Amino acid sequence: MGKIAFLGLGRMGLPMATNLAASGHPVTVWNRSPGKAADFAAEHGVTAAETPSRAAADADIVITMLADDDALLDAYLGRDGVLESLPTGAVAIDMGTVSPETVARLHGLVAVNGCAFLDAPVSGSVAAAAAATLTIMAAGDEEAFASVRDVLADLGDPVLHLGPSGAGSAMKLAVNSVVHSLNGAVSEALVLAERAGIERTTAYSVFLNSAISAPFVHYRQAAFERPGEVPVAFRLALAAKDLRLALALGEHVGAPLPQAQANLGVLERAVRAGFADHDESGLAQYFRAMSA
Ligand code: NAP
Repeated sequence: MGKIAFLGLGRMGLPMATNLAASGHPVTVWNRSPGKAADFAAEHGVTAAETPSRAAADADIVITMLADDDALLDAYLGRDGVLESLPTGAVAIDMGTVSPETVARLHGLVAVNGCAFLDAPVSGSVAAAAAATLTIMAAGDEEAFASVRDVLADLGDPVLHLGPSGAGSAMKLAVNSVVHSLNGAVSEALVLAERAGIERTTAYSVFLNSAISAPFVHYRQAAFERPGEVPVAFRLALAAKDLRLALALGEHVGAPLPQAQANLGVLERAVRAGFADHDESGLAQYFRAMSA
C-alpha cells in the first residue's frame, strides 16, 4: 500500500482520514491546529507531521481536505508547504471544494516535479464521510486516477472520473449551487409555515412527505428541527464560499446563475449577522431573527 499524507482534519477530513487508517494505509496526518493531528495519530496509531512539507516528504499520495482555495494554496505554496518536498511521481489529490483556477494552478506546479494533481471533490454529509459513501467527482490524468482509485474507494462510493483537470471542481460547484438553493428554500419555507401558525416539526414532516422530499431534506431534519442542539455539519461561511466560486465559474464560462446570486446575497447577510460558523441550516434561525 502506498504511503498517504492526509492534510486537513476538519469536519470532513477527520472521518475520511479515519477510514484510510482503518483500511490499513500507512498514513501521516497534518492539520493547521496541531492538536487535532497529534490526537488523531495517538488514537489511530499513525504519524503526525508538523508541517505540510514533512507530511508529504515520503508520500506516494497527498490528499488535501481543507476549507477553501486560500487554505489549499497555503498548504502547497506557503512556508514548509507540500511543494517543497513532494516526491517525483507522487499523486496529489484535492478533495475540498475549490475553484477550477486553483486546480489548474496546482496541476501545473506539481507537473514540474513529475507529479499528477487530481481534483476529486466530494458530495455528501459528514455522516456519509464516516460511512465512506461520499460521491467522489474526480478529474485529471486517467493513469494517475487509476493508480489511486482503490484509495478513493475507501472514502466514497461512487468514485467517478469526470474528465480533464478541473472538471471535478466545476461539477462540484454545480451540485452545490443546487444544495444551497435547497437549503435557502427549506429555511425560508419552514419559517413561513411557522409564522403561519404551523408547528415546526409538523411542517417539516410535511416537507418529508411531499414532492420536495429530497435526501438533503431528510438528512438535515434534526438540524432544522432542533437548531443549536445538533453539531455543525457544514459551516454557513463555506456555503457562501461555494456560491462565490460558482458565480465566478458562471462568469468565466458564460452561464447565468440568478438563483445562486440571490442565495449568496442572503448568505452574506447571514454571515454579517454573526451566523458564519453556524450550520448552514442556521439560515432558518437568521430568518426567524429577521422576522421577530
Ligand atoms: P472545516 O470543518 O471548517 O475544516 C476546515 C479544515 O481546513 C480544518 O482542518 C482547518 O484547520 C483547515 N484550514 C482552514 N483554513 C486553513 C488555512 N488557512 N491553512 C491551513 N488549513 C486551514 O471544513 P469541512 O466541513 O471539513 O470542509 C472541508 C472542505 O470540504 C471544504 O472545502 C468544504 O466546502 C468541503 N465539503 C464539506 C462538506 C461538509 O458537509 N462539511 C461536504 C462536502 C464538501 P483547523 O483545524 O486549524 O481550523
